[in-house]
Amino acid sequence: MGTIYAIANQKGGVGKTTTAVNLAACIAEAGYPTLLVDIDAQANATVGLGVAKTTEPSVYDVLRGDVSALDAVVETSIEGLSLLPAHPDLAAATVELARANGSDTRLRDALEPVRERFTFVLLDCPPSLGPLTINALVAADRVIVPVQTEYFALEGLAGLLDTLGLVQRRLNPRLAIAGMLLTMHDTRTRLAHDVEQEVRQHFPDLVFKTVIPRNVRISEAPSYGVPVIHHDPHSNGATAYFELAKEMVARG
Ligand code: ADP
Ligand code: MG
Repeated sequence: MGTIYAIANQKGGVGKTTTAVNLAACIAEAGYPTLLVDIDAQANATVGLGVAKTTEPSVYDVLRGDVSALDAVVETSIEGLSLLPAHPDLAAATVELARANGSDTRLRDALEPVRERFTFVLLDCPPSLGPLTINALVAADRVIVPVQTEYFALEGLAGLLDTLGLVQRRLNPRLAIAGMLLTMHDTRTRLAHDVEQEVRQHFPDLVFKTVIPRNVRISEAPSYGVPVIHHDPHSNGATAYFELAKEMVARG
């Protein structure tokens, strides 16, 4: 049975998708069969892996119950990495799921049959605490919370932790925090250093040792439809995501 990780933070632009794509690629490259599930209607993870966001069937059809997850999974250019793609139609799912009773477990139930094929399943969440993110937290065993090392880093984290606690109590007792991940860290600035200290003090033992640097290769890679380890395997960004993959696998 694969372990399911949700990559979640209701803030946009903190590095969720970048982490989902690059971490998934590094784990797959290390030899673990991996599935990335894109549940953001923006479909950035889908496009970032070189798959068209008009691909059908998509995770939207799976959440509606029209198609089984196995039939919607596609292969990517990275050996061992499969994708359950998102489609812009997924925006409608937010409304549909909010209306339907008992819809919080749709994703969990849909992923049940694919879980056996993969060692790791990563869920790239949208920037909200809406029904899609709740579905991801109900399906997940662990959560990774990317935190951008900038002035407002801690803002919003309390709300996220409250939501995690609520999901743990009411819907998914096995949910655990795998770690908070500092992203887009600019080693040259005092601010990044201070924010790192603050987050580590606030959440001792909860922050990954690995820090993802701000790196232009990371931001270029999606326009080529590849993860940074294929765009520039020797870049600081690629090295950092390899380190993170090792740390995540070691933490178990
Ligand atoms: P989210 O999914 O949380 O909204 P993204 O992963 O899409 O955030 O990242 C937001 C933007 O920041 C994207 O343009 C991405 O390319 C860029 N970015 C993310 N991580 C890095 C990094 N480590 N270095 C440079 N740019 C980054
Ligand atoms: Mg995103």
